[in-house]
Amino acid sequence: MSDPDKTVAVIGAGPVGLAAAAHALERGLRPIVLEGGACAGHAVRQWAHVRMFSPWGYNIDKAAERLLREAGWNEPDPERYPTGGELAEQYLEPLAARTALGPHIRTHVRVISVVRAGLDKVKTAGRDKAPFEIRYVNGAGAESVRADAVIDASGTWFQPNPAGANGVEAIGEADNAARIAYGMPDVLGGARQRYAGRTVAVLGSGHSAIGTVIDLKRLQEDAPETQVVWLLRGDNPEKAFGGGAADQLAARGELGLAFAGIVRSGGVRVEPGFRLTHVSEAGGRLRLGAGPACCGRHVLADELIVATGFRPDLSFLREMRIELDPALECPRLLAPLIDPNLHSCGTVRPHGARELAQPEPGLYLAGMKSYGRAPTFLMKTGYEQVRSIVAAIAGDRAAAERVELVLPETGVCGGAALGSGSATASACCGGPAPTDPSACCKADEEAKAVGNAGCGCSS
Ligand SMILES: Cc1cc2nc3c(=O)[nH]c(=O)nc-3n(C[C@H](O)[C@H](O)[C@H](O)COP(=O)(O)OP(=O)(O)OC[C@H]3O[C@@H](n4cnc5c(N)ncnc54)[C@H](O)[C@@H]3O)c2cc1C
Repeated sequence: MSDPDKTVAVIGAGPVGLAAAAHALERGLRPIVLEGGACAGHAVRQWAHVRMFSPWGYNIDKAAERLLREAGWNEPDPERYPTGGELAEQYLEPLAARTALGPHIRTHVRVISVVRAGLDKVKTAGRDKAPFEIRYVNGAGAESVRADAVIDASGTWFQPNPAGANGVEAIGEADNAARIAYGMPDVLGGARQRYAGRTVAVLGSGHSAIGTVIDLKRLQEDAPETQVVWLLRGDNPEKAFGGGAADQLAARGELGLAFAGIVRSGGVRVEPGFRLTHVSEAGGRLRLGAGPACCGRHVLADELIVATGFRPDLSFLREMRIELDPALECPRLLAPLIDPNLHSCGTVRPHGARELAQPEPGLYLAGMKSYGRAPTFLMKTGYEQVRSIVAAIAGDRAAAERVELVLPETGVCGGAALGSGSATASACCGGPAPTDPSACCKADEEAKAVGNAGCGCSS
């Protein structure tokens, strides 16, 4: 099925984009990777200081590994947990620079539109025969490249969610931007001076928020004046503690355990049910308000760190026929598997080309971007996605449909908090993709198949 004339444009040279290119190369297709940053792993390098919760063994794609081995790579210890920086230096960089992938990667190239050559979105006739045309800017003006298929693996890192609880910026958020950071600033490294000795409010309840609170507590050991206020929108802080000892990714479980210890010992001020609406300046500090500007609940802090997740940039897909879940902004078929409203499992069943295809034939969303606004993406899931997508592009339907991955479980399912995961709950997720789209996971499907209510994931 080798077809060197078949071109696959991959948007983004993150772990998933590079894996897609490695699979394409292995199948005899011609990948063109378009990366907006100066080098591969540009987004990962922004969180270089963060220790990953998945060990090396989970973070390396199989096709990429084969390319690296050919190039004489020193494989890292699969049991070790790299930082984002180590992932970039010891895996992404050699993959991009020292393997056969190198000539296929263009950096400093930011994609600004994807179209069907000569056709706008409304035109149907001839659409499936027209090549994709990907326009990009590279500092010297706009240029374009044509491709037979497009895998959009551009991630979400550069589109953090705003602080406002209703999904838009809180009133005054932009005006006070100088005291607000998004994502996971390096509070123990480059950003230490900014936060040492200050009262820092951390908004969010995912891994980034938890990790930041833990780091700020470490900073407090050196700078005892540092105070931490944890603002969470939900009412139950325990939900953020995760699967603890039941988490098959031990580091992720330990992070939750460490955080639970800090919260339960009163080490941080906790403000549950805090739905931020206003940010203003008050006496040289930030006044963070939840409710009416004049007189609602509020917290005073010197700095705010917003760790409320990310959202996809859909702007350059404007002329593509895409179908996304209205809430999650992810491919429609993927939504029931990852919807945090329905499905509290951190584990998501493996999926591929079938779930990720779009009405525009040949266009796929993959990697972190494919999850839209859902928070549970694992790199390993992305590697399985692109293995299947590239197989579909190459015309190997059997391989595209096959599931070659079993994912680790969090041990929290159906809302069980740390320490309360029952045997049923912890066995809820993982396993190959069920075929019943109403089932949230393998155990759910099996339970429904014999007439039971399901495993409880979606309750
Ligand atoms: C702090 C943090 C820790 C994480 N830890 C783990 C972990 O331990 N284990 C795990 O499995 N997952 C983890 N993840 C989740 C996820 O696996 C990573 O975010 C991973 O980097 C996603 O890979 P990706 O290739 O989909 O996207 P990214 O790594 O975000 O790569 C996307 C690339 O696309 C480029 N790009 C963006 N827009 C454009 C454009 N318009 N044109 C051209 N290029 C563009 C970006 O510069 C970037 O290089 C973590 C995420 C974060 C944020």
